[in-house]
Amino acid sequence: MNPDCIFCQIIQGNTQANIVYKDDMVTAFRDIHPLTPVHVLVVPNRHIASVNQVTEEDEMLLGHLVTVARRLAAENGIDQSGYRLMINTGPDAGQTVHHIHLHILGGQHMRIRLEG
Ligand code: 5GP
Ligand code: ZN
Repeated sequence: MNPDCIFCQIIQGNTQANIVYKDDMVTAFRDIHPLTPVHVLVVPNRHIASVNQVTEEDEMLLGHLVTVARRLAAENGIDQSGYRLMINTGPDAGQTVHHIHLHILGGQHMRIRLEG
């Protein structure tokens, strides 16, 4: 828990968010500024700043992010139409929140490059 981190605050319930899934490892909520009709973020409950801080010990956790994303894609009706899973890391990728998060983007056709 990092008290200055907006996603830690959401996980703790101290900041409002549209939470669509939660278990003991991850929390998923709708992005406040959706880039696509379906835009959900899946985040580990433990604060990890970015992929640069990931270790072998996090492999189960990161795999779990993807299986939760797969379920949420199906629940949101985009599993057959298609979706993109994205993790931005560092300034060139435009990472703005320094708590690792998996974007689930779908509900429209996506060009290779998405501009926010
Ligand atoms: P990044 O650019 O770091 O990959 O993505 C951060 C994402 O978090 C952005 O898409 C942004 O809209 C979203 N975001 C930032 N602050 C909040 C917030 O307080 N609540 C929610 N639901 N999403 C947020
Ligand atoms: Zn955090």
